[in-house]
Amino acid sequence: MPTMADLEEARRALDAPLFADLAGDAKVSFEFFPPKSEKMEEQLWSAIQTLAPLGPRFVSVTYGAGGSTRERTHATVARIASETAIPAAAHLTCVEASRDEVDEIARAYWEAGVRHIVALRGDMPQAGAPFEAHPQGYRNAADLVAGLKKVAPFEISVAAYPECHPDSANPQADIDNLKAKIDAGATRAISQFFFSPECFFRFRDRAAAAGITAEIVPGILPVSNVAQTRKFAGLCGAAIPSWMDRLFEGLDDHPAARQLVAATIAAELCRKLYAGGVRNFHFYTLNRAELAYAICHLLGLRPGKAALEKAA
Ligand SMILES: Cc1cc2nc3c(=O)[nH]c(=O)nc-3n(C[C@H](O)[C@H](O)[C@H](O)COP(=O)(O)OP(=O)(O)OC[C@H]3O[C@@H](n4cnc5c(N)ncnc54)[C@H](O)[C@@H]3O)c2cc1C
Repeated sequence: MPTMADLEEARRALDAPLFADLAGDAKVSFEFFPPKSEKMEEQLWSAIQTLAPLGPRFVSVTYGAGGSTRERTHATVARIASETAIPAAAHLTCVEASRDEVDEIARAYWEAGVRHIVALRGDMPQAGAPFEAHPQGYRNAADLVAGLKKVAPFEISVAAYPECHPDSANPQADIDNLKAKIDAGATRAISQFFFSPECFFRFRDRAAAAGITAEIVPGILPVSNVAQTRKFAGLCGAAIPSWMDRLFEGLDDHPAARQLVAATIAAELCRKLYAGGVRNFHFYTLNRAELAYAICHLLGLRPGKAALEKAA
């Protein structure tokens, strides 16, 4: 049920310059992938340095399909945990690993000072292959969440799918699965990317109707390469609307204009989510800071005390 404050905010979003006078009460988190080379590592650290002063609630580092980035994910998360004051979260999947192996990875995170895991089932390394649990492994993300809670009292986030996960029998089964993950001990869901605010609001309503009270944070992907995003979107239950193709048409040779268009689309989505009461946003940064930084700025965030230096 929208409150008076929500309605006033919605009115203001329609009447005023879209981003004028936002209260700066949004909270953000940023997702990175583990770098493959020294050059990429520099790019990642530069992105973290740029985004840190915005005071993210946490930053997370992904885990490659089939555990292919096990060491790199660990090294990146451990470095963030030891060298910065930003809470670091490690993504962890159940693919091609026994429970003992996964538990050992989790224990190593706990020992490295990492207290937050993004717990995922993961996908098979062969793109599109149906998921098969390891014979001694966790069967799905809910099972993994329960297992991690036995290893240590981690804060746990899980994945949610506003447009339904492709493996789900139907949208209700998808919500039931999310509820199972929360009931197993997760305290937050981070959504797959999406481009329609209504789709997120409908999902949030369905989750609330199912008794899910944990926060559901929209995952925001600022898109500047539609073709690349489309390849990925097909596999993960997200649709790329046709208006997006039209907006990027003719911009192949105009990278700066493409960035501006990308920022505008993502910022507009965030503004509509904000008008619908969303205050927490998770950005898929692809290890680049500028788009996320610009959108956070429009949402009213300003750099505060740098969170980067842990201890002088
Ligand atoms: C925020 C976010 C971060 C991600 N990070 C990574 C990452 O770092 N590395 C990576 O490899 N992938 C990552 N992914 C992708 C994710 O691994 C895939 O989407 C994967 O296909 C599903 O993982 P899940 O944790 O959602 O699985 P689950 O929640 O276990 O469920 C997946 C699907 O299977 C169905 N299902 C689960 N259990 C059962 C059951 N017992 N019976 C019937 N159906 C069942 C569910 O309904 C659901 O549709 C991420 C996704 C998101 C949204």
